[in-house]
Amino acid sequence: MPHYLGIDLGGTNIKAGVTDERANVLAQISVPTPTSGGAAGVMDGMAAAARLAAEKAGLQLAQVTAIGVGSPGPLDLVRGMVRHAPNLPGFRDVPLRDEIARRTGRPTVLENDANAAGFGEFWAGAGKDPSIRHLVMLTLGTGVGSGVIVDGHVVHGASTMAGEAGHMIVVPNGRLCGCGQRGCIEAYASATNTARRAVEALVLGEASSLKKMFDQDKDLVTSKAVFDAAKAGDALAARIAEETMDLLGLTCVNLCRVLDPQMIVFAGGMILSGDYLFDGIRRAFKKHTWNVDAPQAAIVPAALGNDAGFIGAAAVAWDADQRGLLKA
Ligand SMILES: [Zn+2]
Repeated sequence: MPHYLGIDLGGTNIKAGVTDERANVLAQISVPTPTSGGAAGVMDGMAAAARLAAEKAGLQLAQVTAIGVGSPGPLDLVRGMVRHAPNLPGFRDVPLRDEIARRTGRPTVLENDANAAGFGEFWAGAGKDPSIRHLVMLTLGTGVGSGVIVDGHVVHGASTMAGEAGHMIVVPNGRLCGCGQRGCIEAYASATNTARRAVEALVLGEASSLKKMFDQDKDLVTSKAVFDAAKAGDALAARIAEETMDLLGLTCVNLCRVLDPQMIVFAGGMILSGDYLFDGIRRAFKKHTWNVDAPQAAIVPAALGNDAGFIGAAAVAWDADQRGLLKA
């Protein structure tokens, strides 16, 4: 039976896990990302994590069909390179795919971490029903990560830069985004920027139940604190939350206009705000869209949590195997 090994490379942890061809997780581990030894040290750590995960699944690495790696980027997927990764010291033009293949002796496939997580939700999570073939995932964290799945495959585009829905412009000449553009959805509706917009309003002296927290330490004003205060009826927090949900709903409409997905999946810590968040996004989705032939895309929470990264990386390896794309 084929086995796939997924590695989720993060700035803090390396997660690795083994699945079978039906997305059942047989074993998983998490180890700290080596902080010394530069890129080579990190890749040694990844190979060691792969070996450990395989062992835990009762396998030799040689019995693993293929390895998938989800990495922060930007990446050059054609050459299997990490161009640079701000959270991984020493990662500049690193041939990650070939180096992991060399260290493990297994065919290795590289994918952008947000694409991999989206593909994981498609394969094994919120979109695992075989009737789902078209799915977009948005992860609301420090930024707004995204993965676009069309007809069962990750969309990469001409220069492997497609699927960056977090950098769709929703407010012309709006807030400056970390990417250099103005008005990206990420500049408003990431968890970090939702909190930041609330802090900016508090700095201006607006009254709010968040004020006490803010006076103590402004970093206590997280997106969770904003949504909690909004639920409790705080006017400032409700306005900030509403703007986040409105722009996310608008983003969903734009995604439907281009991609017509069956499902838009939201992931990241902010989804813990539950129905309040999802009802708000669905309300905005309805408000901003056609009233005839309204899109039918389901707007749903992700199902895999923090496991989406390594399961998605394994899914990428599975997909490459299915398509006969594995190179030894
Ligand atoms: Zn941007």
